[in-house]
Amino acid sequence: MDYTVLSIQELHDLYVAGKTNPVEVVEQAIAKAKADKNNALEAVMYDDARKMAMQLVNEGVEEDNLLWGIPYFIKDNFSTKGVETTASSNILKGYVPHFDAEVITRLKAKKAIPLGKAALDELAMGGSGMSGHLGRTFNPFDETHQHMVGGSSAGSASLVAAGIVPFSLGSDTGDSVRKPASYAGLVGFKPTWGRISRYGLYPFTPSLDAVGYFTRNVFDAALLLDTLAGRDDKDLTSSFREVDQYSAYQADVKGLKFATLKGISNSIGNPVLKQHYDRSIEELVKRGATVEMVEIDQNLLNALFSTYFVLSCAESTSNNANLDGVKFGARQAGKTYIDVIKNTRTAGFSALIKRRFILGSYSLKQENQELLFRRAQKARRLIVEAVNKVLTDYDFIYLPAAPSIAPKFDQKSDNLNIAHLVEDNHLVIGNLAGLPSITLPLCIDRGMPIGVNITGRAFDEKRLFAAAAVVESITGLKNLYVGSKK
Ligand code: GLN
Repeated sequence: MDYTVLSIQELHDLYVAGKTNPVEVVEQAIAKAKADKNNALEAVMYDDARKMAMQLVNEGVEEDNLLWGIPYFIKDNFSTKGVETTASSNILKGYVPHFDAEVITRLKAKKAIPLGKAALDELAMGGSGMSGHLGRTFNPFDETHQHMVGGSSAGSASLVAAGIVPFSLGSDTGDSVRKPASYAGLVGFKPTWGRISRYGLYPFTPSLDAVGYFTRNVFDAALLLDTLAGRDDKDLTSSFREVDQYSAYQADVKGLKFATLKGISNSIGNPVLKQHYDRSIEELVKRGATVEMVEIDQNLLNALFSTYFVLSCAESTSNNANLDGVKFGARQAGKTYIDVIKNTRTAGFSALIKRRFILGSYSLKQENQELLFRRAQKARRLIVEAVNKVLTDYDFIYLPAAPSIAPKFDQKSDNLNIAHLVEDNHLVIGNLAGLPSITLPLCIDRGMPIGVNITGRAFDEKRLFAAAAVVESITGLKNLYVGSKK
């Protein structure tokens, strides 16, 4: 039997029943990862994984610990002690962190088994899975390798969709977990800003960044939050709020109010998506929910992408200033200190990254700051106020996670058409407002998945999972992977 295609809960049940064990499962996952053709990996941790699996088998199964012996992959922008962590950028070639990110420490304490590091768009800046220094990462749902899996958490999405592990860690600054989840038929989740410690996650845009992850179903996503949520003194932006038992949600939407947003939900172009989205709304209503279309000022929706882009470029140029080859990373030679930095950054970053840093520096420059950076901050405030107003009257915002199936690599153009920018980038609402947000599969079109997204109130993750579990039961799309033939 192929155990690696199972969900966390299914695998755990088989461990407890003595049907399989972590040694067997880790060997299967390693064999599948080695045979995988989707270019999803940066570095592997197979020796340590095998040792850990052996030790767990000797110790015996922990019946009430669902993460015991569960293999997973880590996006390569999380620090891993003793394992090269490049964020898919040449500038970090050879950099080996001396500590683990907090989320990895927590997963280790729960005895989940890390198998390696997954490829991403360079430094998590991108949405295509095309810009990592090892080249394109592919979507397992398309054997011909024409469709992207999306990004920036491209490898993490690809490895779960390929049926190699039941979950993987990613990061979400604009949509980098929730968009690839849509393209890869997975559940992709980001929590409220501050809910999960980001200690050891490479900063991209700290006012937006969140640890996120991919799973094969909603329950597994809630289960992971039970372990990952909570204050960490090493991340001063992590919240002191009490942690709930998220996996104890009751799947029920009776009396709950969902808002769809005019200007996004009424302009769906893909007919299959439209049909399934509308049907899911009818079914939510049948189960006792209210679903209404709400209008947000179209100017604010139109400003989503530009606001995100100005803020993220500005924060990223500042937060990546430490990548200079002086303290760590792949240093280039130079006669002076300045030459070393210049040569290192010239050789180390791709053109895409340089473009973002130039835009970011331009908007932070004193003479431009009011007009660009401060203005984007003000626009963000207006967007957040409008969204929070919707979320005082409604429990959730319910929208397609993407306009269609994963685009083909050669379709990915810089489409700056405003309607397209809104439908393709609205998930950034969850980051601008720091809200918990989850994508889950909604339908299959031409053999490729499309997801739907639910965004909730800050720190309201438990009800978000409850609502998502209801949608999951409506769609019947659960535990998908490339071979599941749905
Ligand atoms: N696609 C967005 C970008 O390119 C989001 C990236 C992310 O969430 N890390 O910036």
